[in-house]
Amino acid sequence: MDGSKINGQQVTEAELLAADYRKYQGEDVDIYYNKNICAHIGNCVRGNPAVFEVGRRPWILADNASADDVVKVINTCPSGALKYIRKDEQ
Ligand code: SF4
Repeated sequence: MDGSKINGQQVTEAELLAADYRKYQGEDVDIYYNKNICAHIGNCVRGNPAVFEVGRRPWILADNASADDVVKVINTCPSGALKYIRKDEQ
């Protein structure tokens, strides 16, 4: 799943926040997470435990990996609970 899109459209921050996603800000990429959609499959924590760590507050630290790595892991999220907006390619 392409974590930068919803229904094939490039997603905006306003849309994500309106849809109840919470923002985890990073330098090059912002991560958005919606706990109501999360299926607790764990691809994120297995994919990069430095960025996604369930026992930590905040549990997402966007700057603990390169933006490319963040995007790769988010695209493995099967539910759409994780989205991203890159800030380094605009
Ligand atoms: S990969 Fe997506 S669905 Fe799975 S635990 Fe992480 S956020 Fe939830």
